[in-house]
Amino acid sequence: MAGSSDDNATDAPFTAEQKEYIAGFAAGTAARGLFAGHTPAGQVTNDPAAAGANLAEVGGEETYYGVPVDELAKEEQLKRAENPLDIWDKLLAHANADQPPEGGDVFRFKFHGLFYVAPAQDSFMVRLRTPGAVLTAPQVRGIAGLARDWGGGYADVTTRSNLQVRELPPSSIVEVLMTLDEIGLGARGAGADNIRNITAPPTSGFDPQEIVDVRPLCRALQHYLYNNRDMYGLPRKFNIAFDSGGAVSVLSDTNDIGFVATRVEDGQGVEPGVYFRVLLCGITGHERIAFESGLLVRPDECVPLAAAIVRAFNETGDRTNRKKARLCYVLDRLGLDAFLERVQAHLGFELRFLDAEKCTPRPPEVRHAHLGVHPQSTPGLNYIGIDVPVGRMTAEQMDALAALSEELGGGELRLTVWQNVLLPHVPDDKVDEALARISELGFSHEPHAIMGGLVACTGNTGCRYASTNTKGQAIALGQHLRDTVGLDEPLNIHLTGCPNSCAQHYIGDIGLLGALVTRAGELVEAYHVYVGGGAGQDAGIAREFAKGVPFDELPPILERLLASYRDRAEPDD
Ligand code: SF4
Repeated sequence: MAGSSDDNATDAPFTAEQKEYIAGFAAGTAARGLFAGHTPAGQVTNDPAAAGANLAEVGGEETYYGVPVDELAKEEQLKRAENPLDIWDKLLAHANADQPPEGGDVFRFKFHGLFYVAPAQDSFMVRLRTPGAVLTAPQVRGIAGLARDWGGGYADVTTRSNLQVRELPPSSIVEVLMTLDEIGLGARGAGADNIRNITAPPTSGFDPQEIVDVRPLCRALQHYLYNNRDMYGLPRKFNIAFDSGGAVSVLSDTNDIGFVATRVEDGQGVEPGVYFRVLLCGITGHERIAFESGLLVRPDECVPLAAAIVRAFNETGDRTNRKKARLCYVLDRLGLDAFLERVQAHLGFELRFLDAEKCTPRPPEVRHAHLGVHPQSTPGLNYIGIDVPVGRMTAEQMDALAALSEELGGGELRLTVWQNVLLPHVPDDKVDEALARISELGFSHEPHAIMGGLVACTGNTGCRYASTNTKGQAIALGQHLRDTVGLDEPLNIHLTGCPNSCAQHYIGDIGLLGALVTRAGELVEAYHVYVGGGAGQDAGIAREFAKGVPFDELPPILERLLASYRDRAEPDD
């Protein structure tokens, strides 16, 4: 019954049973007293310093989060001077006047997912929130309409399985935010010093190998953030992922917190059952893969623990030096034990520890399982991974995918951290028709070894920090390598335009970091080349292979590199 609105249909996005399970998480955590140490008084103040009112030394005339005001980083000064959550009137004024923000407001607007990206484009980009990477067909249509009516007519899938819409004039920003709220999405906290989109494997809920469906946790955490002001205005941005154990990786070890589902069998000293191991401090741009903290939490303890870690981070993060403000530097300074003492103070349950070796190992991630046709846990249903080159879809393609999901699937789409789209819940006898329609849209489902693993950040056509045209060059490079190197094994090539590393070049098999170099007296776009990175079971930081290679010299170099890899003596190399 594809596209049915019947709650009990097996291919509907959520069955009645799943809805009950999801609602239980949202309502149950607070009722069971799993939170502690949080004073909601901070939620009604306009004073940013008081937003974390449970903290002893948060505000005042002279200090902000305990730091003398004159020592604060510029962005902290901006947050202190005017809480970016409280600028709705300002957004209205800018929209009415069709005026872009200036000065510190460019930063404040990012709290609402609004990025004024001049000079790359004299317009806004809005970054959405798509927790758990689930989008219903009406939501996809809503975003397509928004992109068509106000933006450049396209949207980009990001490396946090999220969407960005670009080329929005200042006059549109309030309408855009209202529309996003009305279609059940939103953008608050999608930029600046906030918790970014909460990610999950895109196959959550139907992956044959998953340990537990993590969609309820993404949803519960999303709403917890939305309703607690001290979850905003952190010392720096913050990433959280839930890993169900499914075949498609969510790159949990690249997050500040990665919750990884596991089972604990009898005899390990804790009650047997489903738990989450907790990884901490993944920031690949700083060449760090998250480490095992030893913490073990039940599913209903995940949201309280995430909130407690964020609160402890608020108390201890460096607000003077942006380069040292991420969570990993707090742990470098304090040590894990001292930091967890602070975390414990915000919890209504005792932290539990168990060595990762005593937990059931995570089922293996399957490279490029985000492409092609794969069976779901319900017999007779399949998901189709669609290759969306470097994540860009036109509004017309989005409309058509929404229709496809309603007619041949379950009325929903999923996004992946590999910048592509899954069409789930396709019955066996509809797969061929779905593939034909995907092909008509100009997309492929083929898990091509090179094209399927291309990841690129926005680049200099839309981001002021970029040195290179990452998206355009990714496609050109991918096509060259596809046509010249016959490679069977899936490969990931990540192109990032600046050291901010939105495309995570350090975890690519090949990572390319954009730069400008001088050649014959002229500045040309180039890349530093890194090789051998990976995540999950292949975790590792890539090492430098070459520096400052002009882009037009790069394809033949990578062609030779990959040919020698293909012809290597040992298949496991
Ligand atoms: Fe912009 Fe740099 Fe991020 Fe690319 S990596 S999108 S250039 S900030």
